[in-house]
Amino acid sequence: MTSGQDAEVRGFDAALSSIDAYFSSGDFVADLARRVAIPTESPKPQRRPELRFYLEQELRPTLESMGFTCRLFENPDPAGGPFLIARRHEADELPTVLSYGHGDVVSGYDDQWADGLDPWILTQVGDRLYGRGTADNKAQHTINLAALRAVLDARGALGFNVTLLFETSEECGSPGLGQFCEANAELLAADVFIASDGPRIQRDVPTIFMGSRGAFNFSMTVDLREGGHHSGNWGGLLSNPGVILANAIASMIDEHGEILVEGWKAEPMSDSVRTAVSALQVGGAAGDPDIDPHWGEPGFSPAERVIGTNTFEVLAFETGNPRNPVNAIPPRAVAHGHVRFVVGTRAADLMPALRRHLDRLGYDDVVLESAGVSMEATRLDPTSPWAAWAIESVTNAVKREVAVLPNLGGSLPNDVFAEVLGLPTIWVPHSYAGCSQHAPNEHVLLTICRDALSIMTHLWWDLGNGDTPHSKLTRQ
Ligand SMILES: [Zn+2]
Repeated sequence: MTSGQDAEVRGFDAALSSIDAYFSSGDFVADLARRVAIPTESPKPQRRPELRFYLEQELRPTLESMGFTCRLFENPDPAGGPFLIARRHEADELPTVLSYGHGDVVSGYDDQWADGLDPWILTQVGDRLYGRGTADNKAQHTINLAALRAVLDARGALGFNVTLLFETSEECGSPGLGQFCEANAELLAADVFIASDGPRIQRDVPTIFMGSRGAFNFSMTVDLREGGHHSGNWGGLLSNPGVILANAIASMIDEHGEILVEGWKAEPMSDSVRTAVSALQVGGAAGDPDIDPHWGEPGFSPAERVIGTNTFEVLAFETGNPRNPVNAIPPRAVAHGHVRFVVGTRAADLMPALRRHLDRLGYDDVVLESAGVSMEATRLDPTSPWAAWAIESVTNAVKREVAVLPNLGGSLPNDVFAEVLGLPTIWVPHSYAGCSQHAPNEHVLLTICRDALSIMTHLWWDLGNGDTPHSKLTRQ
C-alpha cells in the first residue's frame, strides 16, 4: 500500500468513527429535535416566517460552519416560500454534486397524535423517533449534512464541489421550483444529483431510486340537462349520464385493470431496467394490503406493474345524490381520473389520446378537464455511469443487497432536476413505508438513521476519492 492509499484508508476510518460518534453521542437526535421544533407547515400561509427562519437561522449557520456560501432567494411563484442555495466550491476540475432537501412539512394535526406525542417535540419510543417532518424530510437532510461534515473533517476537504438547494413548499406541490431552477440553471449546474426523500422499498433494504413515475389528474363530466326527471315518467326516454360515463370508463380499462386507451400503455422496459425491477419485492410488510394477482397490465410481476407500467385509477365517481338516492334520472355525472406513467409517456399527450379514444367510440358527451398540476416521469438506467457508480458505493457500504429502482412507483418533482437541469438523478431514501408521513405519529427509525449515516458517509467519501464517472470523463 502506498502512503497515499494508507492515508486514504485512515481518513475513511476516521470519517466512519466520527459519524458513529455523531449518532451515539446523541448529537444526531439533538440536531433533529431542534429542526422538528420549528413548525414549518407550508400549507399554512401564517407559517411563512418559520419557513424563512428554518433556512436562515437553522440551516445557514450549520452550512456556513462547513465552508458553504449561502444565499436566500424569494420564490418566483407567490404561492411558494423561499429557497436557499448553499455552495462549497473546491476546484473547477472536481466533480460537482447538486443535493436537495425541503425544510417544510405538512400540517401538524396537533390534536390527533397518540398520547404523549407532540408533533413539534421529538420523542423517542423504542426504535422510533416521533415528530412532524422527521421522515419527510428533516431527518433525511440532517443525515446527509452530517455525513458531509464527517467526510470534510476527516479528509480536510471533500474532494468535490457541492451545491445544496433547499425549498420550503414541497408539501404544496413545489410551486416555483421549476421556474426557479430554470432561471438559476447556471448556479445549479452539476455533474450529478444526489439527495434523499421518501421510503426504502423494505425497511431493512437500502434503496436507491433514480426517477419516478409521472402523475396526471383529470375529470370526466357528462352534463346533459337541468335537474333530475322522474324515472316513471321519463325512464327510457332520457339518457342517463351515470350510465354513459360508466360505459365510457369501461371502454378505458377492463375489469382486470388493463388499460384499453390507445397511447396510454407504457413503452416496454429496456432489458436492464426490467432486470433491476424484477429483482424487487413489493408489499408483504405488516399492515400492507394483499396484492391482487390478476389486477393491472397482464404479463408483469407485481413490482413490474407498479414501477414499470402505466396505471389508471378512478379516484371518485358521482351521479345523482349517493347520500339520498331518489327515483329520478340524474342530470349529471362526474368522475375524477388519475394516471401514473413511466418514461415514454408524456403528461401532455394523455388527454388528447383519451379524447380521440372517446370520440372514436361516440362518447362525445364526455367533457374532459385537466386538474392542473401534473408531473412528468423520469428514469435512469441502472447501467448508466453515475447510477452504476452509486449502486456500487452503497453496496460496498452495506455489504448486503441493495434495492435499485430505475424509478419509483410514486411521483416526485424529479423532472425539474432530470430535465430542467439535465442531471443524472440518484435518490437514497432514509425512511420506510410505515413512517406515517403526512399523517399523525410521523416517525423515523433509529436503526435506519444509523445505517443511513454510514451509507451517506461512504457515498460522499467515494465521491471525493477521484474515481467517479466525472474523473473518467475528464481523463479521456
Ligand atoms: Zn411530503
